[in-house]
Amino acid sequence: MSATGSARLFDRACAVIPGGVNSPVRAFRAVGGTPRFMVRAAGPYLWDVDGNRYVDLVSSWGPMILGHAHPAVVDAVRAAATQGLSFGTPTVGEIELAQEIVRRVPPVEQVRLVNSGTEATMSAIRLARGITGRPVVVKFAGHYHGHVDALLVAAGSGVATFGLPSSPGVTGAQAADTIVLPYNDLDAVRALFIERGAEIAAVIAEAAAGNMGAVPPDPGFNAALRELCHAHGALLILDEVMTGFRVSAAGWFGLERVSADLYTFGKVMSGGLPAAAFGGSAALMAYLAPAGPVYQAGTLSGNPVAVAAGLATLRAADREVYARLDVAATRLAGLLDQALDVEGVPHLVQTAGSLLSVFFTDPATKAVRDYAAVQATQTWRFPAFFHALLEHGVYAPPSAFESWFVSAALDTEAFEVIAAALPPAARAAAHATRPPAEPQG
Ligand SMILES: *Cc1c(COP(=O)(O)O)cnc(C)c1O
Repeated sequence: MSATGSARLFDRACAVIPGGVNSPVRAFRAVGGTPRFMVRAAGPYLWDVDGNRYVDLVSSWGPMILGHAHPAVVDAVRAAATQGLSFGTPTVGEIELAQEIVRRVPPVEQVRLVNSGTEATMSAIRLARGITGRPVVVKFAGHYHGHVDALLVAAGSGVATFGLPSSPGVTGAQAADTIVLPYNDLDAVRALFIERGAEIAAVIAEAAAGNMGAVPPDPGFNAALRELCHAHGALLILDEVMTGFRVSAAGWFGLERVSADLYTFGKVMSGGLPAAAFGGSAALMAYLAPAGPVYQAGTLSGNPVAVAAGLATLRAADREVYARLDVAATRLAGLLDQALDVEGVPHLVQTAGSLLSVFFTDPATKAVRDYAAVQATQTWRFPAFFHALLEHGVYAPPSAFESWFVSAALDTEAFEVIAAALPPAARAAAHATRPPAEPQG
């Protein structure tokens, strides 16, 4: 499989774009090799500039649950675009998208549309601080909430991939108002609330962690967060940017009915164009300008083309689509397990709804529950595994710290490609050698 075209483009990109990419994990640094430049996508497949076809298990990091270039979504985008690209005024589509979100997630009575998940979490936190008049935000190690300054501390996704403790450019004051706790550790949350409860504006958590691999909350964890927040006058923000409208029609809320005070959404609800949202009860959202004093705005927020893509995606994502996602995830998990078992590679395929990831870890490990456990896995097996999959036409996330995203477009043929790629990939993982500098794990 040739990558010469991608390599040439990557050289050109590196001259004018830092690291050659506009979002770090795309650069393949965690797995080595040349990032593939894609030119086209349809259904379950991506095609790169060298004419290689890949079964896509990244789905643009979540949005493409229907598969690529879904006719209903493309038609909606085309229709919206021909009517004008942006008006800077209210539009009907914004009402319809807000209604669709509110209908699906009952604790959300109102939403404000923004352009990215980062904006959604940043705005939700400003709102929580504005409402409570308190400074401190509590987050969990390994959770990623976008590149919001205060939330980059001990974050997942690319921050985890590159092993950054935080990020230069985040000031001490911003970091000082963020308290990071180990995930799924209720004792730590309780102790913190006893000590500093009166300063805490909000606890923010991924509804189920997906940015350090798929690490679901322990049963009762989210409910206990809610109780602790309410007992101390703080707000619970559940970040459903990744899980929202993917793991069920109502996101993680559909699987575990714990209502948060504020929610953040993105990815699936954007249909693949830049759109995201945050929301909550009408009473809390009334603090936002122009109804209330907490300022938040956006030139392109609620953009009609992006809204059309999101709305068409959600309208097409019916019961059958969610059933297909679940079946695809179960099937993929089974194939991964089987191939790795055959080669005797110690591993755990862990799921959070239809999100899944492969942890190379001691088979005695029943679950990977927090970031320390994720970091202790044999991530050195991942690059060989990843590249063997890629070589055999399967595009997995280029980092051991990311979830795998299925789409409803994965059909029999796509699964045949996956099933054929997994044995050589499992062999590559089996033969990978631990680099001498790595700690035991
Ligand atoms: C992707 C993601 C974000 C950030 O969204 P962007 O659109 O990349 O800014 C925030 N929170 C979670 C849980 C995410 O998965």
